[in-house]
Amino acid sequence: MAEKQVYFFGDGKADGNAKMKELLGGKGANLAEMSKLDIPVPPGFTITTEVCTHFMKIGGNYPKELEGQVEAASKKVEKIMNSRFGNPENPLLFSVRSGARSSMPGMMETILNIGLTSATIPGLIAKSGSERFVYDSYRRLIMMYSDVVMEKAAGIEPKEGMGIRHQLEHEMQKLKDAKGAKIDTDLDADDLKKLVDIFKKKVKQILKKDFPDDHNEQLWGAIGAVFRSWNGKRAVSYRRIEGIPDEWGTAVNVQTMVFGNMGTNCATGVAFTRDPATGENKFYGEFLVNAQGEDVVAGIRTPQAINEVSKTKASKHLPSLEKLMPACYKQLAQIRTKLEKHYRDMQDIEFTIQDGKLFMLQTRVGKRNGVAAVRMAIEMCEKRLISKEEALLRVRPEQLDELLHPMLDPKEEKKAQQLAGGLPAGPGGGIGQIVFTADDAEAWAKQGKKVILVRNETSPEDVHGMKAAQAILTAMGGMTSHAALVARGWGKCCIVGCGALNISATKKVMAVKGKELHEGDWISLNGTKGVVYDGKIGLLPADPQKNVHYKKLMGWADKIRRLNVRTNADNPQDARTARNFGAEGIGLCRTEHMFFGPDRIAAMRQMILADDEAGRKQALKKLLPLQRRDFIGIFKAMDGLPVTIRTLDPPLHEFLPNDKASQKEMAEQMGVTVEAIKDKVQSLHEANPMLGHRGCRLGITYPEITAMQVQAIIEAACQVAKKGVKVHPEIMIPLVGTKAELENQKKVAVETAEKVLQKAGVKIKYMVGTMIEIPRAALTADQVAEVAEFFSFGTNDLTQMTFGYSRDDAGKFLPYYLKNKILSADPFQTLDQQGVGQLVQLGIQRGRATRKDLKVGICGEHGGDPKSVEFCHRVGMNYVSCSPFRVPIARLAAAQAAVR
Ligand code: PEP
Ligand code: MG
Repeated sequence: MAEKQVYFFGDGKADGNAKMKELLGGKGANLAEMSKLDIPVPPGFTITTEVCTHFMKIGGNYPKELEGQVEAASKKVEKIMNSRFGNPENPLLFSVRSGARSSMPGMMETILNIGLTSATIPGLIAKSGSERFVYDSYRRLIMMYSDVVMEKAAGIEPKEGMGIRHQLEHEMQKLKDAKGAKIDTDLDADDLKKLVDIFKKKVKQILKKDFPDDHNEQLWGAIGAVFRSWNGKRAVSYRRIEGIPDEWGTAVNVQTMVFGNMGTNCATGVAFTRDPATGENKFYGEFLVNAQGEDVVAGIRTPQAINEVSKTKASKHLPSLEKLMPACYKQLAQIRTKLEKHYRDMQDIEFTIQDGKLFMLQTRVGKRNGVAAVRMAIEMCEKRLISKEEALLRVRPEQLDELLHPMLDPKEEKKAQQLAGGLPAGPGGGIGQIVFTADDAEAWAKQGKKVILVRNETSPEDVHGMKAAQAILTAMGGMTSHAALVARGWGKCCIVGCGALNISATKKVMAVKGKELHEGDWISLNGTKGVVYDGKIGLLPADPQKNVHYKKLMGWADKIRRLNVRTNADNPQDARTARNFGAEGIGLCRTEHMFFGPDRIAAMRQMILADDEAGRKQALKKLLPLQRRDFIGIFKAMDGLPVTIRTLDPPLHEFLPNDKASQKEMAEQMGVTVEAIKDKVQSLHEANPMLGHRGCRLGITYPEITAMQVQAIIEAACQVAKKGVKVHPEIMIPLVGTKAELENQKKVAVETAEKVLQKAGVKIKYMVGTMIEIPRAALTADQVAEVAEFFSFGTNDLTQMTFGYSRDDAGKFLPYYLKNKILSADPFQTLDQQGVGQLVQLGIQRGRATRKDLKVGICGEHGGDPKSVEFCHRVGMNYVSCSPFRVPIARLAAAQAAVR
C-alpha cells in the first residue's frame, strides 16, 4: 500500500488528477481535475481506494498513517476556508461521500453537515444568521448519520418500513401534519428544534445509542460507514449486474460543506451538458431553491428547470435558474462549455449556490440511453470534438437495442384508457402486470411473467426488481431521480413523477382516477411520452431506419469493420427483417423448423414411421415440394447474398408426440395402431439424445433425407435463378466429427446437386461445407478441410461438448456457478475464450493450413455477443452470424474490434 493515502484538492490546486480514478475514485479524481481547471470547487481531500481495501481486509482497521494525513489535509482546508472543524466560534462543516472507480448512482452513502454538535451550533447560527437553517441542517445530519452509520454500517437489518430513516421521516410528517405544513420549508426554526429533540430520542430508543455529539467521532464514524457501504447489500447487487469487481473498493471524499439551504439566494441542482434522453446539444438540468442535494433526487418537491429549454410539463410554471439567478446561470453555462471541451464527452454535474456564489460539487461522464449515445457520438464527431473511431467506441453495442425498441401500437394507444401522465424517463413501450415490490418483480419474472414495477419512488435497494421488470413506474421523482437514472442507464422503459398515482405497497393496490388497480393487473406505458394506460396494448417493433444519426453511425461502422455480418434465419420474413438491419447473408438456416408446420409434420412422421428406405422415400416425396417452396422464399429475400442451409440436425424423436392423447390422435390420423406409435417412440428413445442419433449421423444412416433436402435446395436455386435472382447456396453438414463423415455426406450432396443442375440446364455455383461443433472436428480441422469448402463454428454445441455441460440441463447448476463465481460468465452467452476459444483458434489455423482461403464463420448464439464478436475478429474469421435483431449490434461490435 502506498504511503500517500490522502489527496488534497482546492483553491486551484490538487494532488491528484482525472486520470487517477483507480486510486481516487471517479468523484475524487474529477474534483481534483476541476480544481486544477480553476473551476470553483469547495476544498477537501480524498482518502484512497487502497485504504478501503485495506480496511476491509484488516477487519475495519485503518493504516497507521491515515489519521495524521487526514489531520494535515484538514488543516489545509481550514486555512483556505478561514474556519475550523469543531471550532465553536467559527465552525467548518464537512460532507463525506463515497466515490468508486466507475459511478454506482446512489448505491453507496453520503453524509452531510458533519461537525454540527451542541458546541458548534451556536457558532454557526451566529455566522449564518439563521437559526432555521442550522437546525434544518442538524436534523438532516441526524437522519443521514443514524441511517448510514448507526444502522446500516452497524449491520442492523430492520423490517421493511421500520428502518430508522423511515421512522424519522414519519416523525417529521407527523409534525408537518400537526402544523398543517405542506412542504419541509413550511417548518420554522422552533419546529425544527423540536424535531431535532424528537429525532434524538427516537434514535436512542431504536438504536440504543446516543447520537454522537463530538465532531471527530462524527467524521470517523462517517468515513468508516462509507467504506463499509462498499459491501452493503445494494452495492453488491449493483456490482453483480454491472460486472464491477469487488476488489476495486471505494474512495472517500471529505469536502467543505457549502449550503444550498441557507436561504432564498441559495440553491442546489444537477445538470447534464447535453440532454441525456435525446442526446440533443442543449444544457439540461433541474434545481431547487433553498435545498440540499438530496431534495432534488428524493423527488419530494418538484424540481425547477435550470433554463427555459429544460422546462417540462411539471416545471413549466416555475421560474428557471436562468431567470432567477442570471449571473450564476451564466457562470454555470460557461463551466458547462469548459467541461465538455476538456473532457470531450457529455458530463453529469452537481452544483450548489450558497449566498449567490456558485460551487461545483461533481462532474462525471453522464449516463445516457442508446438514442442519446448515438446522437452525441455523431454530433461531437461532426464538431471535431472527437474522431470517427472514438465516436464508434462511444456507443456500447448493446445500447443499439434501445433504438430497436418496441413502441406501443399507436392505433391501439389512441383507443386505450389513459390512467395518468408522468415524466418520460426511459423511452419505448412497456407492458406488464403490476407488482409493488422489487422482490415480487424478480420472483414473477422468474416464472416467465412480464411485470411492471410500480413504486412511490425507487431506491438502490430495488435494483434487482427494476432489472427484472419490463418497465418501471414511480409516483414521485424527477428526471434525475434514482428510477430515471437507473432506467436510462439500462435503456429501460420508465415513467417517473406520476403524481396522480396513490400507491400502497403493503396493501398491493394503486388508486388512480377513482379506479383501483391490484397486483397482477395489466398496464401499458409509453416511456417516450410519459403516459400510463389501463390494460394491455400491442407492441410494435422499432424502426431505426428513420433515425439519421443511427444510420450515419452504422455507415461508419460498416466502412471500418472487416468482419461480415450474417443472420440466422429460417423463413423469408426473418431473412427480410435481418436484411433491413444490414445482414449480408444467411449464416445458418436450420431446416428442422420447417418440418413442424401443420402441413408437414404428418409427412415427416410418416417418414419416421416407415420401416424401410422405400417407405421413407415415399414420405420424403411429399416433403420435397414444401421444402423447395421454403427455399425459394428465402433465396428471393436474400437475392445476391450467400445463404447457408444446414441439413437436418435434431434427433428424430423430437418430431413424435410423447403424451398418450397426442399419440392416439397421431395413430388415428395415420391409420395405424397406438401401439405402433408407442413402439416407435420407444425404439427412438435415447439416454443422451444430444450425443445420439442426430446431425450428420442421421444423414449418413438415411442418405435419402440429405438427398431430398439438397434436391429441394438446388431445384429452388435453379427456379429463382431463371427469374434473375442471384443465388449463392451453401450446403452445410451438421455435427461432423471426422473427415469420413463429411466425405460421405458431401458425396450424396454433390451427386444430387449435379443431377438437378444437369436436368435444369442451369449453372449455379454452390458449396458444401461443415459445422465445426464437435471438439474432434476442430482438432482434426486440417483433415476435415480437405473435404469442407467452408467452416461454420457451431459454438452452442462446441461449448456443450467442450465443457461437458448439457445445453438442456445446465440451468440446474449454471445459476449457482455464476452466483458463486465458479464461472465468471455464462459460456452459452459469451464465448469461453480461454477454453472453447482455443478450439476455435486451432480449428481455423489447421483448416487454413490445408485450404489457404477457407471461409470461416460462426453461427452459435455467440455470433451476436459483442465480446465474442471481438474474439471472432481477432482470430480472423470471415463473418459472424446472429439472430436478426442482433445484426446491428454485431456490425458495431465488429467495427469496434477493428478500431481497437
Ligand atoms: C450450434 O451448435 O452452435 C448451432 C448453431 O447449432 P444448433 O444450435 O442448432 O445446435
Ligand atoms: Mg449445433
